Amino acid sequence: MLAQKKPFNRENYKTVNMVNTPLGCYVYEHRLIAESALGHLIPKGVEVHHHSKAQLVLCESRSYHILLHNRKKALEACGHATWRHCCDCDAYKHTDEFYTKRTGICKKCSQIRSKDYYESNKDETVITRKKYAGKNKDELQEYRRNYYLKNREKRLEYQKAYKKKNKDKINRYRELNKDKIHAYDKAYRERKKVEIC
Ligand SMILES: [Zn+2]
Ligand SMILES: [Zn+2]
Repeated sequence: MLAQKKPFNRENYKTVNMVNTPLGCYVYEHRLIAESALGHLIPKGVEVHHHSKAQLVLCESRSYHILLHNRKKALEACGHATWRHCCDCDAYKHTDEFYTKRTGICKKCSQIRSKDYYESNKDETVITRKKYAGKNKDELQEYRRNYYLKNREKRLEYQKAYKKKNKDKINRYRELNKDKIHAYDKAYRERKKVEIC
């Protein structure tokens, strides 16, 4: 009884009374037409799409059938069969305007959504972060210290290479910020002096 398979949007399909035939039930007209044209039953999994009684398209799967309907809808709505509908702004847009093939929301609307989420959860996020930092203060400090020690050689090497590569830039910066650097050095020396005493 393959002619009976339910189409996904039933309202648009006409049924035919075949109760008094060997089929013994109502069947969908477009499937009957397709089967009589094929001369055999429609294979399992295949769906029949119909523009009109005269124009039937056999679809190898339901997803292909849905695709056909979406394309038809898009074409009628915006003139481009391959454009996709965004459920947030209710507009048809080029596929480039969507992040992935599967999301039903365009890039612009996704950005608005995540911004809204951030705005409405901002206070909570800040509080959670502060709480975490307060609770794990010692651990965080320990972690930073360990990281610093572990990567000391690497960092020194990197610094050396950077200095060598950007000699002119550094010299120029020194020249421009002479007073600032001088003041900083002085403060550093004072601090060290206190520590040594
Ligand atoms: Zn169809
Ligand atoms: Zn949108």
